[in-house]
Amino acid sequence: MGLGSGEGVGTMQGVTMHVRGVTRRYGAVQALDGVNLDLPAGRTVALLGPSGCGKSTLLRVLAGLESPDEGTVHLDGQDLSHVPPQRRGVGMVFQDFALFPHLDVAGNVAFGLVEQGWLRSDREARVAEMLDLVGLSGLERRRPHALSGGQQQRVALARALAPRPSLLLLDEPLSNLDRALRDELSRELAALLGDLSLRALHVTHDQREAFTLADQVAVMREGRIVQTGTPVSLREAPTNAWVAGFLGLREIVPEGMARELGFAGSMLLRVERFTPDPAGVTFHVHAVRRLEEDVELTLRTADWPFDVRWLVRPRELTSGVPGLGDEIRLRVPEDAWVSLGVHA
Ligand code: ADP
Repeated sequence: MGLGSGEGVGTMQGVTMHVRGVTRRYGAVQALDGVNLDLPAGRTVALLGPSGCGKSTLLRVLAGLESPDEGTVHLDGQDLSHVPPQRRGVGMVFQDFALFPHLDVAGNVAFGLVEQGWLRSDREARVAEMLDLVGLSGLERRRPHALSGGQQQRVALARALAPRPSLLLLDEPLSNLDRALRDELSRELAALLGDLSLRALHVTHDQREAFTLADQVAVMREGRIVQTGTPVSLREAPTNAWVAGFLGLREIVPEGMARELGFAGSMLLRVERFTPDPAGVTFHVHAVRRLEEDVELTLRTADWPFDVRWLVRPRELTSGVPGLGDEIRLRVPEDAWVSLGVHA
């Protein structure tokens, strides 16, 4: 049951939503600390950060449910500060789906349309179109409790999309689903949002989800956006050691060790750029772990004060997979070293 393609879900074309210098304090807690973010029309941006970094607060500000202490949100030259939530054209999908338990699927999807005063016949056509879009045609009369988690999530999505929002906010919409369903739905959601050309901000603390869903990822920490980029550019050049660590890039050489090697600040070592080379650096094998298709070797060299873990396909090792204590020579190209700056 896939998500279909979506004609007829409109959004304002070609206009970027600008968030500038947005701050929000709760007593002593600085939940948002000068947030700048661009949300282009027709694109999904993932907002990625650990729990408590301010993601939900930013969503509430964008939805108009919360006023910033400072800063602005602009769309098409209009300051949205004093535009009430119901007039912002914002659709929301929440972690717990927040479906209305007393309404059936069709009633849930029609909810925003009733509020907007759509005629019954237009409403019915739109509900049918949305259910077709999310692959739930035929389930119009079901109540939410009789749906699976994945189906509830699709109803919540259909309900948010029905009134043609100019911004779709997704607040950890997949985090209550199990891993396999989550991966499947995040791929489907990415395809659907791409087809719809909808402006969307997808909040998650899961980097895998962020990288599947969005072509732009904004990494947030302690109320600030610390880096924005494509998944590839973030992996290639994380702005500091914290971002590198948060993205799960393991081969971080802390500043102290990096200095021993002649570098000025902490470094990221792109171990995946190592290649077998008889004239390369000599490593000793300290652990061998067989993964599904790859082998992970824990390697030590006299030249460095740390171990590295190197993943390789066995067929790339012409002399076979080495054993514990064996030697292996690898070329470490210059571009395997990426500077993470002096301040972590
Ligand atoms: P996230 O969504 O990234 O988990 P939140 O935006 O929920 O983060 O919270 C950011 C910070 O603001 C946290 O320290 C949180 O405790 C605090 N916070 C959020 N909402 C409120 C509130 N209504 N009152 C007091 N503190 C809050």
